[in-house]
Amino acid sequence: MQGPTYAAPRPDAILLDFEGERQDIAVYETAGGYAMARSQAGRPFEEIVQELKDSGLRGRGGAGFPTGLKVSFIGKGSRYLVVNADESEPGTFKDRELMLRNPHALVEGCVILCNAIGAGAAYIYIRGEYATEALVLDAAVAQARQRGYVGATLPGAPGAVEVYVHRGAGAYICGEETALLSSLNGERGQPTAKPPFPAVSGAWASPTLLNNVETVATVPFILAMGCKTYSELRTEQTTGTRLMSLSGNVARPGNYELPVTATFGDLIDGCGGGVPAGRSLKCFIPGGSSAPILMPDQLDVQIAVETCAAAGTMAGSGAVIVIDDRTCMVQLALRVADFYRHESCGKCTPCREGTRWMVELLKKVESGQAQRAEIDLLLELCDRMEGKCLCPLGDACAMPVRSYLQHFRAEFDAHVEQGGCPGGAASPFGALYPELKRSLPLVPA
Ligand code: SF4
Repeated sequence: MQGPTYAAPRPDAILLDFEGERQDIAVYETAGGYAMARSQAGRPFEEIVQELKDSGLRGRGGAGFPTGLKVSFIGKGSRYLVVNADESEPGTFKDRELMLRNPHALVEGCVILCNAIGAGAAYIYIRGEYATEALVLDAAVAQARQRGYVGATLPGAPGAVEVYVHRGAGAYICGEETALLSSLNGERGQPTAKPPFPAVSGAWASPTLLNNVETVATVPFILAMGCKTYSELRTEQTTGTRLMSLSGNVARPGNYELPVTATFGDLIDGCGGGVPAGRSLKCFIPGGSSAPILMPDQLDVQIAVETCAAAGTMAGSGAVIVIDDRTCMVQLALRVADFYRHESCGKCTPCREGTRWMVELLKKVESGQAQRAEIDLLLELCDRMEGKCLCPLGDACAMPVRSYLQHFRAEFDAHVEQGGCPGGAASPFGALYPELKRSLPLVPA
């Protein structure tokens, strides 16, 4: 895999606690793989649900919803398991490495959960850009089929389980669960209103359990070590380990598996080696680009769901982006907002129009054409987007921009006062947005 590399295994890591790769099923089985798929196949639904509840496992895709509770919601009738492998939040690449290096953990998790809920099929919805990972998963499923874990009924299981790898077409919004299900169903990949929730009407209008890659891949390990052991590694409301994607201005970027008791300082300074020599930490994004930033004096915040919430941000997808003193916060806001503008599906007005106006306003600020009142207008725009959109994408655009303004208002003001980016010639802005000079003033002078 190109890009960041995995760090040395830690004793408290479970998902990536090995050297090299486990793409070969024989290697995975030698390490104890598929033992849980066999031994748990006939276990009653209620017992598996209780085990997951007692483990305290929370979804690792972003929302952090308790997994056992989610599984317990599954309705009656023909059921499906859908795995959200549409990992698209900027800064997040943990599921990618997990699928590449430990694909059978995901396949085994699918078999276990399908047997538990009585589903005959699991669909792994993987983003189109993950071409190599999709091939690795295809091969893993084929190996599992040869060994009789997939496509055959395990002793005691309610029936045979099929696992399909379904390739998306590269839309960020298909990571939102209702949009993902629409896309899987062959419809336009746009969010729909809830209810109905997927547990009642999901894939092909049937009860569907929808979980993230890391969440599903963790299930075999929880059952193997026991929910009690797993839950001993805990903060007040979060348990186990988390895969954290570390990127940005940091010496050793990569995926690191950490106990939820670890702090962002453990990750950024301990695992990542801190910011490059001679630079200073300006702030960091703790949970994907949609998360409000944290400041250097918040490095002692733990990476758990509730500790991030208490610090005014969110654990999100586990993507930590480190920002050093070279970064212009207006440019960062523009890059983030422009991403969400591009990925807005256009279905609801506050998001479709709000993201566009956000980008236009930020372009004016960055180029020095804005008035001070237009910086306040940015905050007003955030008010008009947050909590007013059909899906979380509108919030994902507004929340980070608001946090940049809260912490770095003076930097935004400086763009107005100095007629442009204080970074001057060092600013990469012109190359990124060559069309800027043609944009019109939004507020008459
Ligand atoms: Fe589409 Fe944005 Fe509305 Fe979500 S918030 S449904 S992405 S327009």
